[in-house]
Amino acid sequence: MEKEESENYTLAEAIKEAQRCLHCKVPGCKKGCPISNDIPDWIAELSKANFGNAMSIINAKSNLPAVCSRVCGHERQCEGSCVLAKKGEAIRIGKLEKFVSDFDSEAGWRHEAIPEKSRGRVAVIGSGPAGLTIAGDLSRQGFAVEIFEMEAEAGGVLKYGIPEYRLPKEVVRREINKIERLGVTFHLSTTAGKDFTVDDLFAQGFDAIFMGTGTGVPKRLDIPGIDHPGVRQAIRFLRRVGLYESGSMSRDEVMVAEGDKVAVIGCGNTAIDAARTALRMGASEVSIIYHRDIDKMAALRAEYDEAVREGVKFLWNSSVTNIVGGEGQRLKSVTVTSEDNSFEMPLDRLILAVGSVPASRIVSTTKGIEVDAKGYVLTRDYPYGMTTRKGVFAGGDVTNHPATVVHAMHDAKLVAEGIAKYIDAVKLMQSIQ
Ligand code: SF4
Repeated sequence: MEKEESENYTLAEAIKEAQRCLHCKVPGCKKGCPISNDIPDWIAELSKANFGNAMSIINAKSNLPAVCSRVCGHERQCEGSCVLAKKGEAIRIGKLEKFVSDFDSEAGWRHEAIPEKSRGRVAVIGSGPAGLTIAGDLSRQGFAVEIFEMEAEAGGVLKYGIPEYRLPKEVVRREINKIERLGVTFHLSTTAGKDFTVDDLFAQGFDAIFMGTGTGVPKRLDIPGIDHPGVRQAIRFLRRVGLYESGSMSRDEVMVAEGDKVAVIGCGNTAIDAARTALRMGASEVSIIYHRDIDKMAALRAEYDEAVREGVKFLWNSSVTNIVGGEGQRLKSVTVTSEDNSFEMPLDRLILAVGSVPASRIVSTTKGIEVDAKGYVLTRDYPYGMTTRKGVFAGGDVTNHPATVVHAMHDAKLVAEGIAKYIDAVKLMQSIQ
């Protein structure tokens, strides 16, 4: 597999690009950022080669800048809202953020004093973008935070869901190390609902618990032949490729072999990730089959453009209506139907990328946490993010609020404020009783 695709600025290039910024009084870039990153301020520091100051300003709003700089949809967010975008000359904010965060990591500077953990104890279940954001924010505010992660490595979807060529695992590890240096403790290979319950955590003295467990159960489609082993879920395929790349799984277990013909149903970022990853695993042909038109796809335009450039074919307004199994784990063909056409497509593997819903491990082992009809955890606005069980909070995909990594972070930042307010209020009440 090839390594990371996007190139980095040299020091001189980064400063030159930063010096193009107009430092607008009402900056569109900041408005376009879901976490209101103080973009003009850190770009100003960068333009004067004050890298440490630039990093400190970024850190104040984001726990995962090296991740955001690589996977955010900048063209729809900060860069798309830059005043210079109208002339097609938007400041390359994502690339500058990548430069600052990578430069900082390589230099190994520490910019923050770690506060004493005296305000309370918080357990975070899940170490994806929401869990890491909660942990970073609360740790900076003087809470003792412990993260419980079911996988052998932390990172959740960042580690096991986004391919190496878009987000190198090393970058995720670096960001996690930064959060560890804030005093956060990680418990790995520890599954909620199996190794411990929410009640166990309260019994251990945690003041609040955050569920950032994401959506681990992929949706399926009701198509004849869907249960054939040649049909697999995109998130499981991407996870297997990630494990293969880290040496924890053999090549044979990665379900797409050299020369395979592969189709992916769906057209979000996960579908494009799966299609491009299948090509990198040696697939001879990869098609994306989507039941709507191109302007309805959820994927980022830049990701779509890259997929087209690499040779992925797109079948719009089309659906798979039948699946014919072949020998062993392989398929023989699928029937592809559009409004005015229907044909047999020879195929070895079909990958589903049509969304996912939360697993019920925590909810089924804990009393009092209500979910909606689809299994998403219900939360309230005050304190923000608290579930129907007192002291238990939820955020990120498990609540169905966010759509991307940075939206999960935005939601988690609000929940972190809710948790801090809740613990402070409980402790105040206890002190006056
Ligand atoms: Fe700089 Fe563009 Fe933001 Fe204005 S909108 S401050 S030019 S990055």
